Amino acid sequence: MRVVPSARPRKLAKVPFVELADGRLQGVVSSGSDIGRVYVSSVEAGTYAFSCSTNNNRPCGGARGAFCNHIRALIGEAVLQYGAERVARYLKVDVSGDSGEGADAHTLTFAMTSTHPAQGDKSAAAQVFSRFLRHLAYLEFAPSTAPLPEMHWFPTTGAVA
Ligand SMILES: [Zn+2]
Repeated sequence: MRVVPSARPRKLAKVPFVELADGRLQGVVSSGSDIGRVYVSSVEAGTYAFSCSTNNNRPCGGARGAFCNHIRALIGEAVLQYGAERVARYLKVDVSGDSGEGADAHTLTFAMTSTHPAQGDKSAAAQVFSRFLRHLAYLEFAPSTAPLPEMHWFPTTGAVA
């Protein structure tokens, strides 16, 4: 598999966690207004069924019937981290109509929203959030410079295993 370096440094504060895992694009997005609140957002590969809720498991008000700003931010960060091509491939988004290589976060989001995806399963949120907390634990307790396979999402390395 081709290694896709981060195109640009990611804004860690806005989207502290993003990964392509469990058949989903999933991650954690900071609330724009409340520093103590984060949203756990995900989009399922193939169906683009989406979900967004707070770390306290309250449904996101913006994610009723359409992608909310958190999900859009998550897609944007995933494209920075993995590259548009890889995100499109993982989520099974057909962007070939849009001159292929020109795919970006915008065309990906547009291609997915134009299929009118359904609200997804909320149960994923707890899983995603506990993965996020586990990654945070690595940051706190691992001063070692040895590579950690699970840390591939972390933006400082750029390279993805
Ligand atoms: Zn949301």
